[in-house]
Amino acid sequence: MPLNDQGKQNQNSQNNKTRNIVRVAIQRPIFKLLDYSCDFVKTPSSGCRVRIPLGNSSVIGLVVETGVNSELDHLKSLIEILDVHPLLDEAMLELLKWASDYYHYPFGEVLFHALPNALRKGKALPKIRFWRANSAGFALPEKELKRAPKQLAMLKQLKNAEQDAIQLQQAFGDGWRRILKQLEKKALLKTREVEPVYSENGSGQRSAAGMPAKGKLTLTGEQQHSVEQITECFQESRPKPVLLHGVTGSGKTEVYLQSIESLLEAGKQVLVLVPEIGLTPQILFRFQEHFPQYSIASLHSGLADNARMAVWLGAKAGAIDIVIGTRSAVFTPMKNLGAILIDEEHDASFKQQEGFLYQGRDMAIKRAYDASIPVLLGSATPSLESLHNALRQRYRYLRLASRPGVREAPEMILQDTRALPLEAGVSSLLMDEIRQHIHAGNQVMLFLNRRGFAPILMCPACGWNAHCQRCDLGMTYHAAAQKVICHHCGVEHAVKPTCPDCGNDRLTTQGQGTERIEQVLKSHFPTTPVIRIDRDSTSRKGSLEKKLHQVHGGEPVILIGTQMLTKGHDFSGLTLVGILDVDQALFSMDYRAQERLAQQVLQVAGRAGRGEKKGRVVLQTSQPEHPLLLSLLSQGYYQTALQMLNERRQWRYPPYGSQALIRVSANKAEAGLVFLNKFRSVLQSCLEEDASIELLGPMPSPLSKKANRYRFQLLIGSPHRPLLHQLLDKAMPDLLRIRKTGGVRWAIDVDPTDFL
Ligand code: ADP
Ligand code: ZN
Ligand code: ZN
Repeated sequence: MPLNDQGKQNQNSQNNKTRNIVRVAIQRPIFKLLDYSCDFVKTPSSGCRVRIPLGNSSVIGLVVETGVNSELDHLKSLIEILDVHPLLDEAMLELLKWASDYYHYPFGEVLFHALPNALRKGKALPKIRFWRANSAGFALPEKELKRAPKQLAMLKQLKNAEQDAIQLQQAFGDGWRRILKQLEKKALLKTREVEPVYSENGSGQRSAAGMPAKGKLTLTGEQQHSVEQITECFQESRPKPVLLHGVTGSGKTEVYLQSIESLLEAGKQVLVLVPEIGLTPQILFRFQEHFPQYSIASLHSGLADNARMAVWLGAKAGAIDIVIGTRSAVFTPMKNLGAILIDEEHDASFKQQEGFLYQGRDMAIKRAYDASIPVLLGSATPSLESLHNALRQRYRYLRLASRPGVREAPEMILQDTRALPLEAGVSSLLMDEIRQHIHAGNQVMLFLNRRGFAPILMCPACGWNAHCQRCDLGMTYHAAAQKVICHHCGVEHAVKPTCPDCGNDRLTTQGQGTERIEQVLKSHFPTTPVIRIDRDSTSRKGSLEKKLHQVHGGEPVILIGTQMLTKGHDFSGLTLVGILDVDQALFSMDYRAQERLAQQVLQVAGRAGRGEKKGRVVLQTSQPEHPLLLSLLSQGYYQTALQMLNERRQWRYPPYGSQALIRVSANKAEAGLVFLNKFRSVLQSCLEEDASIELLGPMPSPLSKKANRYRFQLLIGSPHRPLLHQLLDKAMPDLLRIRKTGGVRWAIDVDPTDFL
């Protein structure tokens, strides 16, 4: 706490007019910023943390403005200044202010969200201290230190160069500190502290799960063209975002790598955003392999606080060249950021669904725009928003239509399950195909987005079924754990051998999850490894890597998994993919469900046929005539997406209009509804007569009760984004004043992607 006690000024001789006043944001759900006077000699800059008195205690705050003209007469004083240099620079503060305004979320919460946890909690930055001779030290005649040869030697060294503790210890041994003290006592030295530079790799050296090294590949014509276009675009002074739409397996990663080479050579940093690092270690591996000369670090939720802080500070100091991270990595400070890449830009995980509800991809685009740096979005199944921007020439649009080498796109067929015998949801025909592919020495993957054994556990005698009291919904039976688990609130109970209602000892299940399919396939293929990959089977550290390692080994295996398997995996031995359950999504009320389904189907399908042999994808459905499936199979993603965009246009759904969803939950349904009705009235009263804004609701959320809380929503829609934000801004003071009873909580979800 070097700044703490030094130079407290005489407070009585000052008044507010001349005192330094700073404006501080704190990590609380309030929109207000707080003014404090600073009685320290040096006023903290914007972006520095301070400790401030608040009520009877003290909290950490972040300075967002200095030299403030406060209206208040009696301001409390800062207790402590925690940072010498700002943690967040002006550009980042502005970006976060923009985010706070856009998402209507308190600035303080947004700011603290952008900091690594260790710094949020007020942890001091690790520091390195340097010493150097001051002017008195330089001027001192040597003979003055004739009788202190060690001091003389150290002073000489500190005249030559600045030195840190390690250097001094190496030169003067363990007694260095005593010698230094003597010189300091004679006032011959000056000293400064700096944040350390990190060059270590923060990725924890995750193993590459047995993936073969690739080296630098010779680009295909398409890839070459893309790299040229992107490189050209990267050199513009106001570059447009680039959307790289490349079918699965078209080699987008190689395009990313070669496109950023020249930026890195020019000393720039690159930020790479990916959906989930844990699931796709290969992207990190590919970057490390391609750029051994650069320091690469990854940022994701699995990192310990200190490791995360180290990467964050390293990127800020410019010591890390490439940061690969998930959603929140978009807020990493970078000293010399040259470009942002967003892989799988359509992925739902870029949207934060709790607390600060931001869309990481959109933040990245905004960040790049503000900094006039390029941003590259890649996907085999671009989001409709991004495609729309490409169609309107706001983004540059590049395509990779084929897979490099002899590999072709996999063949996809629809299989009508209505007339086929099914076992655990697998049709007899598919079972035969699995057998053929395994016998031919290939690998097979089955996709089902439901973990556990079965979604229903019931008593055939009395009709009882396992039911979550907290959500009023069925619980999923997990056989391995002998539990029923509510997939909505997470509550779990041990399974009893008998029916709790009638005592019948033969409970049965209905439907299937991945566990059941695993069991059935093991019985059909006793000598073939059946590998299940879902949240349950990979919760232990290292277990996912182990499973992936086995798959990359190349022997015939049957993989069964949830959406964890859809993301970016490159399994070269996989020739058959079975997609077991698409029907549910076909009838969803959510207008985004079809887009998500199309993306998921193609992403899963894209795992097949990535090696030498052609791939085959079987889509089981009871709706073989469904227009979405037909269009997807016969016309492909682009045409299907255009049709979906057309429908969105008719309904003025995003991207043709913008939306905000007000979510309310309460302990009692009544309280939630009363609150949301008041909320609606406030909005209504702020609406201009002619405004084309629509308010839809209040209505119960599709998941109307979760963990004992009743949930409601109100949808605000407008063809013009600014109108929507004006309305929320105008209404906010009144909205904040609505009385909350019955434990009401509410949130504004701007650009909602999930309507549960
Ligand atoms: P995407 O991300 O587009 O699905 P990847 O980048 O994972 O595709 O590439 C798919 C596969 O093609 C990888 O195994 C990759 O090594 C290989 N590949 C990419 N580009 C080339 C190339 N020019 N020549 C040969 N193989 C390539
Ligand atoms: Zn019973
Ligand atoms: Zn529940």
